[in-house]
Amino acid sequence: MLQTTPVPAFSDNYLWLIHSPRDPCRVAVVDPGDARPVMDTLDREGLTLDTILVTHHHGDHVGGVAELVKRFRAPVFGPAGERIPCRTRALADGDRVELEAMGLDFEVIDCPGHTAGHIAYYGHGCLFCGDTLFSAGCGRLFEGTPAQMNASLHRLAALPSATRVYCAHEYTLSNLRFAAAVEPDNDSLQAYAEQARQLRAEDRPTLPSTVGRERQVNPFLRCTEPAVVAAAERRAGSAMEDETAVFATIRAWKDSF
Ligand code: ZN
Ligand code: FE
Repeated sequence: MLQTTPVPAFSDNYLWLIHSPRDPCRVAVVDPGDARPVMDTLDREGLTLDTILVTHHHGDHVGGVAELVKRFRAPVFGPAGERIPCRTRALADGDRVELEAMGLDFEVIDCPGHTAGHIAYYGHGCLFCGDTLFSAGCGRLFEGTPAQMNASLHRLAALPSATRVYCAHEYTLSNLRFAAAVEPDNDSLQAYAEQARQLRAEDRPTLPSTVGRERQVNPFLRCTEPAVVAAAERRAGSAMEDETAVFATIRAWKDSF
């Protein structure tokens, strides 16, 4: 299992550090939206930045890239379909990121929806999924269609249930409030909400989650569950044609929740 360190940034981002299994003092950073907190953590913990991994082009995910490259000369991996500052390697679906010196190896999964070129990194039983999958929620559709996002989430949800899910934002409690409105009778959801509230009360991250848990609590991964279909139909006031319609309805509902 990978050792990771969350670096909190802005109001609710986590910039994840991934420690090398060979040398825990060498790290990769995922989506460094701000260089300052990353550098502070590196200095404080005596870490060296080896590699930068980017999931998509939004400022809160790439804003610190240039400054970190200037200081550490780290290679920058990012999606081929987006403009990523200082990118040295453009990644497409199925590519592998083999960081030999660090002993890290990730597979690239295309997951369009939040942005058109969004990618996720999967390896060592861990998934770094940026703003595609959140705990109990999913990213807003800025550039993609509901069908695309639903298909992307399907791919992520099909990973082994023990997979740890490293999301880029601490949105869990507000997502859980919405999830409970969709599925008020989901017991796993209520138990998880209790646990998440406890963690946040102690100022601890609710992340990583797991794929298995998300399948049980995340309404956006549950668009074929009768309770979720029924909630979407109540919301829309009409029957749902297919799973994509369910997804589109609850995504739009969440946007105004
Ligand atoms: Zn984003
Ligand atoms: Fe973001």
